[in-house]
Amino acid sequence: MAKEIGTRCIHLEEEGSNHYGAISFPIYQTATFAHPGVGQSTGYDYSRVQNPTREQLEKVVASLENGIDALALSSGMAAITLMMELFSPGDHLIVDADLYGGSVRLFEQISKKNGISFTSIDCCCEEIEGHIRENTKAIYIETPTNPMMHVTDIAKTAEIAKRHGLLLLVDNTFLSPYFQNPLELGANLVIHSGTKFLGGHNDALAGFLVTNRKELSERLRFLYKTTGAVLSPFDSWLILRGIKTLGVRMERAQENAMAIAEWLKGQKMVTDVIYPGLAEHPGYEVMKRQARGFGAMLTFRVESREFALAILEKVKLIQYAESLGGVETLITYPTTQTHADVPKELREKNGITESTLRMSVGIEDVKDLLDELERVFEDIKKEMKH
Ligand SMILES: *Cc1c(COP(=O)(O)O)cnc(C)c1O
Repeated sequence: MAKEIGTRCIHLEEEGSNHYGAISFPIYQTATFAHPGVGQSTGYDYSRVQNPTREQLEKVVASLENGIDALALSSGMAAITLMMELFSPGDHLIVDADLYGGSVRLFEQISKKNGISFTSIDCCCEEIEGHIRENTKAIYIETPTNPMMHVTDIAKTAEIAKRHGLLLLVDNTFLSPYFQNPLELGANLVIHSGTKFLGGHNDALAGFLVTNRKELSERLRFLYKTTGAVLSPFDSWLILRGIKTLGVRMERAQENAMAIAEWLKGQKMVTDVIYPGLAEHPGYEVMKRQARGFGAMLTFRVESREFALAILEKVKLIQYAESLGGVETLITYPTTQTHADVPKELREKNGITESTLRMSVGIEDVKDLLDELERVFEDIKKEMKH
């Protein structure tokens, strides 16, 4: 019997060899491994190809996503860059219009130069099939998207992909495997920025590609050992350690996010609260069907650009920083930070206005987070003489 996911964050089904009984998996800080004899191997030859600490992490992540293989890379962008090596000049991809800014930059400024073309559509809500061409190879989505929190029905999209022989690639960073498993819903490849919820402490970068298809895993393993953006033994250990508490962190962060979303809804200066855990969110029903939770990311708009900037100036406990998914609550300004490289027209079409803020809710005591927001809002209102 497969164990529950919170347990699988801490224990592998088979614990493997007994490293002197060490409860914490050791860090094999070595670049290379001696061969016992000619033509023999301990199973490890060189750490770019595989390292025991990284392998342990990969097994844990594969287990959490119900995949057959996971590759650990040096960042989320390294993972997406490796994924793009699956495609050749002349290939076409359908990609979500609202995506992590770094992914848009990669597709627009690097993949295009390499001869790959893209059609950006709102995969949540626009008709996809009409955009499929003869050379279309894949559909690439995030759900919920960053930062507008669009929710795409993964199973429905997977059916379309299957019917046309396309790969469905899903960036699952926002919910983590604790809340959502796209492979179970028919996706072929799951991408994670392990820097975010998996690591969970804003102290290490990492990225993952997880698949449940043998041919895809073999092709990716070849590309991986050849290109070499692998995760170091120490960072592998940090992410392994972070994952042990993934379950409790996700539950707590989500509870806090819900409380903050409700609080923001009650503020006159807030014009929109975009959180998929609110029943009025257009993706709420789909989320309830395909995910086990709503996550801890929320986006909101305030009445003016000045109000948004003032919030960033005044927060203290909540920090004005990029990134997400850590124990600390962070707030960012997509227009000039995470999505600065997204062409302005696309950004605005997506609804990322100059009064839009994105919050990654952490696991602090929610009273302190609400007190902080209360203080910041009151201060600004006084200054703006509302
Ligand atoms: C952060 C992020 C990435 C990129 O990951 P890095 O680890 O920063 O390279 C990709 N996708 C999403 C949704 C992200 O939030």
